[in-house]
Amino acid sequence: MRSVGPRLVVLAGPTAVGKGTVAAYVRRHHPTVWLSVSMTTREPRPGEVDGVHYHFVDDQEFERLREAGEFLEWAVVHGRAKYGTPRGPVERTLASGRPALLEIDLAGARQVREAMPGAFFVFLTPPSWEDLVDRLIGRGTETEAEQEIRLQTARTELAAVSEFDVQIVNDDVSRAGEELVSLMFDHRSTSADT
Ligand code: 5GP
Repeated sequence: MRSVGPRLVVLAGPTAVGKGTVAAYVRRHHPTVWLSVSMTTREPRPGEVDGVHYHFVDDQEFERLREAGEFLEWAVVHGRAKYGTPRGPVERTLASGRPALLEIDLAGARQVREAMPGAFFVFLTPPSWEDLVDRLIGRGTETEAEQEIRLQTARTELAAVSEFDVQIVNDDVSRAGEELVSLMFDHRSTSADT
């Protein structure tokens, strides 16, 4: 067993920057990386599978787990639904020697920094502000009023970049995904011998 454990990497970034797409790329192309499956109180979207994309639960169950201390972090995202990272699977994964990736919002990332100071924090940014606006409008999953709120949130979120260890520009999903994975494995090879 290595003396230094594998890295817990937290991927955060402004709304609509493509965190979910980059995380999905990593899941598909790098199965050695374990991707945390969050719990959420929001409704599944078409094509989303319970237990794969999220664990979909009702508010009562979410609150029961939260009160039992089962979440490493949790947050209400976009004022609409609750999201949380189940603590047990993360701890078991790291103990088994596998690198773990969390794709969560900024509030959640800040909680993980408190709970696990050894984690590594990656901030995904758009190539430009215009690109972010285009993505948000282009995906067409929000009403105009919601888009407006999300853009305001994104502006605040972008200012948090200095809190992170590394910034990755999402100019291309596979390039950004490969950069993320290389960070996870480079860390192992440089720290494992210490
Ligand atoms: P969506 O509903 O579009 O899948 O995700 C909305 C937002 O929730 C994204 O910004 C995503 O990063 C965030 N999110 C997903 N899972 C978690 C989680 O477990 N904890 C926190 N804090 N945010 C999450």
